[in-house]
Amino acid sequence: MVNPMTPSEIMRKCILCGRNLRIVLHESGEYTGGNFFRKVKLPVGDGENISLGKQKVLEMEVVEWTGDHEEMEYWECEGCFNEE
Ligand SMILES: [Zn+2]
Repeated sequence: MVNPMTPSEIMRKCILCGRNLRIVLHESGEYTGGNFFRKVKLPVGDGENISLGKQKVLEMEVVEWTGDHEEMEYWECEGCFNEE
């Protein structure tokens, strides 16, 4: 029997403690297994930011850096997220 609602999984790391996180992405667009804050773009070298408008799901402004960049996602595990 095939379950059409099978969620997909992605592997991420907690940015604070380095623990491996198994994030489960559900059909509804929600996720469990970690706490996602934002994508962090680190511009490298020469270039400029061009605004591409708002991203619908997370209400984040999407920009395109015309130069080189490195992109990383900011995740925290439950332990770090719940710690003061
Ligand atoms: Zn952690």
